[in-house]
Amino acid sequence: MLAMNYRGPYRVRADERPMPRILHPEDAIVRVTRSCICGSDLHLYHGMVPDTRVGMTFGHEFCGTVEQVGAEVRNLNVGDHVLVPFNIACGKCHFCQQGLFGNCHESNAQATAVGGIYGYSHTAGGYDGGQAQYVRVPYADVGPMVIPDWMDPDDAVLLTDVVPTGYQAAEMGGIQPGDTVVVFGAGPVGLMAARSAWLFGASRVIVIDHVEYRLDFARVFGPAEVYNFREIDDMVVFLKKLTDSLGPDVCIDAVGGDAAGSAIQTLLGTKLKLEAGNAIALHWAINSVKKGGIVSIVGVYGPTGNIIPIGNVVNKGITIRANQASVKRLLPRLIDHIKNGHMNPKAMITHRVPLTDVADAYHIFAAKLDGCIKPVLLPNGL
Ligand SMILES: [Zn+2]
Ligand SMILES: [Zn+2]
Repeated sequence: MLAMNYRGPYRVRADERPMPRILHPEDAIVRVTRSCICGSDLHLYHGMVPDTRVGMTFGHEFCGTVEQVGAEVRNLNVGDHVLVPFNIACGKCHFCQQGLFGNCHESNAQATAVGGIYGYSHTAGGYDGGQAQYVRVPYADVGPMVIPDWMDPDDAVLLTDVVPTGYQAAEMGGIQPGDTVVVFGAGPVGLMAARSAWLFGASRVIVIDHVEYRLDFARVFGPAEVYNFREIDDMVVFLKKLTDSLGPDVCIDAVGGDAAGSAIQTLLGTKLKLEAGNAIALHWAINSVKKGGIVSIVGVYGPTGNIIPIGNVVNKGITIRANQASVKRLLPRLIDHIKNGHMNPKAMITHRVPLTDVADAYHIFAAKLDGCIKPVLLPNGL
């Protein structure tokens, strides 16, 4: 079969690989029909994630058709159209039982923090991902969900990560009716966070980025007030002025360690790797949020430390909430929002690319060329 093959930083290609096999009676094999490239795949692509091994297939946002099931799979049948959450979760452990599917204690033997994630280095379990014609899906009764007949598969594939991650960012923000919410980052997760903030009752939603075409998109899709941080001297002072000098009620970091802005953060975090990436969005969030406000983090940071203004967190009485999204927990609500027209995630898909052109797709997405917001790979044709 054809699969994306990581050859080292900035080098990916499509290669013939062995077909995945059922390795456990609870496994399934899925024939992939759509597989997105995620902003967090770019952390892998840029060589920022420890233990990303040459030969790995990335891809944690995919949907497809069940091709084969193991002897103990009960909920799926061959031929089912399924979307597969990015979290690999056992469904039985202490954490899965609380709905913390992103923190499964069984699916990632390499770590005690994050659970398994498809195609996300050996620090997330070493599972091959779905940027391939076929993929092995462990715990097949737990994660995958059969796609409702009425649902567009372009919406379904975005329910595997960016929709629930953006929605959970808003949920963790504890947004109250009338709140002002600032979202840092106008990538697909930030866009969904902005969209979701309204659903929780926000009365004002502001999106910050530096990529003009994404800000233009956010203005309509959010809809949101948008600002380019390149044009602003001091982001914290700017946001205070916008909000009666008090600061926004909720700040959402939908950027993580790949941030731009702040030469010193780029030097320490990105170039010298003394921090787990550039944490400027988190600084802005902490320093601008209202006293007693909430900072919600879904941007991805590495496991090593970041220098953040913890004294301000204490003195301002800020609540910080963060996690990988628990996709399976949120799916019923999100499916309702799509059905009712409250969300239109597929509008974010700008590029549809055959798997053979995976190198071009990564390059276009990483370099933010051609108005790219969300690229989807079509491993088995249209
Ligand atoms: Zn993703
Ligand atoms: Zn578990």
